[in-house]
Amino acid sequence: MSGGNLILVNARRPCPFTVPKDLEPVKGVLLRREAARALERLIACVDGENEIIAVSGWRSEKEQAEIYRSSLKENGPDFTEKYVALPGHSEHQTGLAVDVGLNLPDIDFICPAFPESGVCGLFRRRAADFGFVLRYPPGKETVTGIAHEPWHFRYVGQPHSKIITERGLTLEEYLEGGGGNE
Ligand SMILES: [Zn+2]
Repeated sequence: MSGGNLILVNARRPCPFTVPKDLEPVKGVLLRREAARALERLIACVDGENEIIAVSGWRSEKEQAEIYRSSLKENGPDFTEKYVALPGHSEHQTGLAVDVGLNLPDIDFICPAFPESGVCGLFRRRAADFGFVLRYPPGKETVTGIAHEPWHFRYVGQPHSKIITERGLTLEEYLEGGGGNE
């Protein structure tokens, strides 16, 4: 199990620190420097500067608690447990996770639209080349504990992003040697 870019945060593993080092602004959110630069390069590579926005980057535990509370109130427990990590257990607290969305007039901040087609599809297909993985893929809900989130990307760096994507793994499975037996 590693720290650094491969840090694992999920329902069983809380984020072990309060504020990550080297947070930097990128597209209106904060990410750790290496992830921020990689996101900029990825978006530039797919010509997505106007169409792709960063909806959420680093969050403090307090912000996560507020999101959790307001989602419980607005969306109920079923939805919240599927899409919102418990306070202290959100990958957003690492500064290595970003929610991206198509730049629409009405943005859903918990589930932003990020379609398979067009510039978003291009972003998705190139993400691993820039160190990002789709962190909550479909069909892996029992491993990750989170429903499929087409908008949530996690920076893990190279070569991990390529291996994880090519083998169709989750970060949990990758760190356990690809077995995936929790
Ligand atoms: Zn997210």
